[in-house]
Amino acid sequence: MMQLDLISDFDEDESLGDELDELEAGEQRCPFCGDTDQPWHYGLDAHHNPRNGHVEVSWQPCCLELREMVECDGWDATYGKPVEDCLREVFGWDDLHHVDLDDSLAVFMLQARILEPTERAMVWEAIDKHHRHHDHPCQWKFGAGCWNGRALVGVAVVGRPVSRMIQKAEPDTLEVTRLCTWGDRRLTFNVSSKLYGLACREARRRGATKMITYTLESENGASLRAAGFKAVAKTKGESWNRAARPRTDKAPTCRKIRWEREL
Ligand SMILES: [Zn+2]
Repeated sequence: MMQLDLISDFDEDESLGDELDELEAGEQRCPFCGDTDQPWHYGLDAHHNPRNGHVEVSWQPCCLELREMVECDGWDATYGKPVEDCLREVFGWDDLHHVDLDDSLAVFMLQARILEPTERAMVWEAIDKHHRHHDHPCQWKFGAGCWNGRALVGVAVVGRPVSRMIQKAEPDTLEVTRLCTWGDRRLTFNVSSKLYGLACREARRRGATKMITYTLESENGASLRAAGFKAVAKTKGESWNRAARPRTDKAPTCRKIRWEREL
């Protein structure tokens, strides 16, 4: 840990005894240079990288000696805890993971919330840009978004069930009509289930008793299972194109799986 014998070098006005007490009490001051900026021992700063949408954290230690100690002994040995714990303390982030991307330290903190109706245009744009097999839906009860730092990395849209039969038979059922996420998978692996979970909570708050959604048969339902959904039915892979209302199929017409969760 810190070399306490070095502290006598920096401030001769105070007694050594006081210095030791201060350091032991809360590491208020860099033992090398005497820097008292809070929190001196982190020097951590978070930035949003607009090129790749990541939240990146840079570290500017107060002095060369501290940098050398971290380079030599490692972060954990110098500070007595992993960098993730320090980031939690500095920024108050809890859903925090740390990955090394191209030599820069990148962290992510996921924050999901229900969107304002005024944010709908942003969601449509994101879905048009990122959704693999659908354009944006036309109806909207509410939407949810998930951010990695300041970068939007996923959205979900909830509406009335697309199937008229279900709409009629189950007036209190809502449907997640679109959900998409984007960005480096290491930074977004938990986004889908977070959005499904949040959508269900909001639907329950609005009086719905069941949430449904569909995936393509080829899609992996892991994030739905993680959010408490169960696969209940397979739809026939028929075209949505009906003689009475001819329209061009934009969506794929392969078989889909219907998922449900009681709220
Ligand atoms: Zn220092």
